[in-house]
Amino acid sequence: MELTNTLTMKKEAVVPHQAGRIRMYTCGPTVYHFAHIGNLRSYLMEDVLEKFLRYEGYQVDRVMNITDVGHLSSDADTGEDKMLKGAKREHKGVMEIARFYTDAFFADCEKLNIRKPDTVVPATSRIPDFIEMVGKLLEKGYAYQAGGNVYFDTGKLDKYYVFGNQDSEGLAVGVRDSVDADENKRNKTDFVLWFTKSKFDDQELKWESPWGLGYPGWHIECSAISVKELGGYLDIHCGGIDNAFPHHTNEIAQSEAYLGHPWCKYWFHVLHLNDARGKMSKSKGDFLTVPLLEEKGYDPLAYRFFCLQSHYRKPLAFSFESLTNAAQAYQKLAGRIGALSTEGELDTGGAKPFQEKFRQALGNDLNTSLAITVLYDLLKSGLSDVTKRWLIGEFDQVLSLDLLEAAQKAGPAGGDALPPEEAVEIEALIQKRQEARKNKDWAAADAIRDQLAAKGVVTKDTPQGVAWEVVKK
Ligand code: AMP
Ligand code: ZN
Repeated sequence: MELTNTLTMKKEAVVPHQAGRIRMYTCGPTVYHFAHIGNLRSYLMEDVLEKFLRYEGYQVDRVMNITDVGHLSSDADTGEDKMLKGAKREHKGVMEIARFYTDAFFADCEKLNIRKPDTVVPATSRIPDFIEMVGKLLEKGYAYQAGGNVYFDTGKLDKYYVFGNQDSEGLAVGVRDSVDADENKRNKTDFVLWFTKSKFDDQELKWESPWGLGYPGWHIECSAISVKELGGYLDIHCGGIDNAFPHHTNEIAQSEAYLGHPWCKYWFHVLHLNDARGKMSKSKGDFLTVPLLEEKGYDPLAYRFFCLQSHYRKPLAFSFESLTNAAQAYQKLAGRIGALSTEGELDTGGAKPFQEKFRQALGNDLNTSLAITVLYDLLKSGLSDVTKRWLIGEFDQVLSLDLLEAAQKAGPAGGDALPPEEAVEIEALIQKRQEARKNKDWAAADAIRDQLAAKGVVTKDTPQGVAWEVVKK
């Protein structure tokens, strides 16, 4: 498969270090609050990636950390530890907060059909590994002690800014908070590996270390956990784009300094979910969560469907209008599938071209919206209903939309009053028109619009999708 690698900002064929096996690392949540649906966009797209790689026959070893210490309010090394902030807000202990929000995170993931990685490691469980890594970085001359803290010396690197998009959204977001100058630093890009001193001396969790009682920096967690669990050669590292700088940039600096060789081949970054105020973020306070969507009557899988309709490398604008459209489309799709009979002959030969198209779509930089178009094309194809159901079940191993279950619930009368074939046809045309517009093929888009108009279909563009209805003449 090909993926856009943030190191080069190019689509590259994924060739793992070891044939047939993918070692994948994901930055887990900072568990001081609920995950918002923006965070979950990242985890959801990473989930599709993992499942597609499995579908392609790879053994995927995926590891995720849980950040329960060291992530300061600014992604740079200033401000209060986010965990402590959460504990104060709720008048609880840091570990209590961590447990509560870790459980809440995985409950959200379950509702969105996001598979829990086989290995999940809370940062606080690996302090000796962080101390070992920091010790070795000092020994190798990549780190120094100043003012009670241990810093990574970015001046020792040939190249610190490794990502191809260092001037784009990622970098802008990474430095979003005002950064207090730290006079201990030799270079302004240096970062803390181990804190014993900060302005905030009421840090609840501290550990003994050769450099004094203290706590680890955020970045060292991921390097140490990844190297310990997955070895020195990582294939894919995932995260939201705001983590590219400084977090991932610093992870690369310290991991490669520690290992003495290149570390991770592919950097998979998901662009942000934005709302009317810009990037959805926990620090802004009022953000949307899965339980909140449920309270408003949305099926969490409608949000999954909404995310899959967009490419992970593009920012996604959230609005309730567009989520409603996605929820309706999801319901209609379930209705179409519910209308398929369970009798007839399975035609595995006839299924092949659709399997191929599905693999091509996802193999081409995880084009999930195209994969969904393949599903609509399948529904309106001449294949037997049984074959369609069978293929939908197979595709759903990757899409994880519970399509067959949803279809059963929707039943043959689900969706709307249109005959199923007709509605499928319209959905397919709308998807095609969106593709054409994305590719700036205006002539094709206009031709499809005329086709839709001839059927009495009235469409309305919304920021994230097309709502439609049939106006009877
Ligand atoms: P955090 O819990 O803040 O450590 O973030 C967890 C994950 O969510 C990280 O991979 C972030 O890069 C990602 N993330 C944060 N905000 C957004 C957003 N608005 N859209 C998509 N991903 C996000
Ligand atoms: Zn990380």
